[in-house]
Amino acid sequence: MCPVCASPLTDPNSFFCLMGGAMKQVNKNMKEMSGDLSGFLDMHFYGSSGKGKGPFRGKSSYKEIVKDSTNGQFDLVFCSPDCFRKFINAIIDEMEGELSGKNKKQ
Ligand SMILES: [Zn+2]
Repeated sequence: MCPVCASPLTDPNSFFCLMGGAMKQVNKNMKEMSGDLSGFLDMHFYGSSGKGKGPFRGKSSYKEIVKDSTNGQFDLVFCSPDCFRKFINAIIDEMEGELSGKNKKQ
């Protein structure tokens, strides 16, 4: 089910998927899934410092999107590019709100 609009995400419906994780290096040419890997996906904003340029100088924001995924793997699946964009934009909007002082950090 799409986390944004709750549309079904089953074949033959189209969907947009963000996948991530880690594979264990077994040997020089081979990698495999492994139960001793814990996957994550984070979004981090780092504000400029020193002579650097950019918005929200000296501030930072961090969002955990996926935590401790089994075998180091995860899929985030959405019904459409529009819902995927809304999901990512919502995270960025929340971070931007914190950086600008409009949202309280939790
Ligand atoms: Zn959707």
